[in-house]
Amino acid sequence: MPEFQHSPGMRDILPPDSGRWRQFQAVFAQVVEAAGYGEVMPPLMEDLGVFQRVGEATDVVTKEMYDFTDRGGRHVSLRPECTASVCRIFAQHRPITPWKVFYAGPNFRYEKPQRGRFRQFDQVGIEVLGADDPYLDVEVIALAWEFYQRLGLRQVKLLLNSLGELDDRTRYEASLAEYFNDNLERLSPESRITLTKNPLRVLDSKRAGDAAVLADAPRIASFYGADAAANFEAVQQGLTDLGIPFTIDTALVRGLDYYRRTTFEFQGGTLDSAQNALGGGGRYDGLVESLGGPATHGIGFALGLDRTLLACDDEGVFGAPNKTVDVFVVDTTGGQEALRITAQLRAAGISADRAFENRSMKSQMKGADRSGAPLAIIVGSNELEAGYVVIRPLRGEDVQRSVARDTLISEVIKALQTAPKEATQ
Ligand code: AMP
Repeated sequence: MPEFQHSPGMRDILPPDSGRWRQFQAVFAQVVEAAGYGEVMPPLMEDLGVFQRVGEATDVVTKEMYDFTDRGGRHVSLRPECTASVCRIFAQHRPITPWKVFYAGPNFRYEKPQRGRFRQFDQVGIEVLGADDPYLDVEVIALAWEFYQRLGLRQVKLLLNSLGELDDRTRYEASLAEYFNDNLERLSPESRITLTKNPLRVLDSKRAGDAAVLADAPRIASFYGADAAANFEAVQQGLTDLGIPFTIDTALVRGLDYYRRTTFEFQGGTLDSAQNALGGGGRYDGLVESLGGPATHGIGFALGLDRTLLACDDEGVFGAPNKTVDVFVVDTTGGQEALRITAQLRAAGISADRAFENRSMKSQMKGADRSGAPLAIIVGSNELEAGYVVIRPLRGEDVQRSVARDTLISEVIKALQTAPKEATQ
């Protein structure tokens, strides 16, 4: 074992997995850019206060922050999520609204590492600031849905709820607190502690012992005023219009005071419950204000890359891309000709790799096979002298051909059109 390995909860992403990650982000960018979202790139680190404003009562903020004092005496933190940063950016730059942005990248949380849970993990997400319209809520949900479809996932479930307007929510919270206090003996000790901080978050409990008391708890739907009910109805109608199936889950709450109206979550159809939350989001008010900006409506979601890829594995879709070069150059004359040929091929848009260290023909051919390239170009001293190269297909039935050196590019293009690409395994 070498002395150093990555820290717990961190990972080294090697090829071909790294190609899968990049492709994941690329598909996401395509989906949301096609709907008018531009990429925002928040810094990896912010003043601690940016994250504290967002969720003083959450585990993410109280227990999981990678915060430290920098050499200038500033109390900063690696970002545990991106919504807070996006709101801080909005407050600082005041872009024209509605501001539709997406992001992709790592976040950091000091959590207990386990399957699908890491200390550095990637998310993709969108936020829209400065617009309040149920059809925007539908657009946001539909984009996440479209993304899952593009990955090939067919078993993702959309759970939907509305937290109502602030007033509705406040009355609901009071009623919930009263109900749980009347039933304290039926609540797990952990949930009793949660109750003292935020009764809504008790509904998040996945503990089996809490199931019965949660099942009888008051439901938010009975607290909706006319506005909230009409708004929720419009969101459901919009989703139905687009053919997006959903299940209403009245226990789907977001504990922070900022959240109101639409909330949603995506669950993998095949994963067990500890990893089945692929992502989620909702509508919020007041975040931008709390960061010094104007009163601004917001809605967004964040989707976790790891759990989504686990769901892809379970459904057998979106595998690691089979990245291979088009051509592998074998040169037994010292390597300078390979240098020229690879440069010429790459300049013509043909991807090319080569062997180094002037190894034997046999060893270089092994490298060619391992590269997965469909074609090898072989140069020996005879070819070099006579102005020829050999093009050898590495898979399938075709036989090798000698071609004049100065027709190399056109001959390679021709050969690539007929060469079988996929390695037969
Ligand atoms: P959150 O930002 O907590 O609402 O999480 C949104 C999504 O990010 C979750 O549904 C997960 O898919 C993913 N996620 C959150 N925390 C982690 C973590 N520690 N490791 C891997 N994925 C995570």
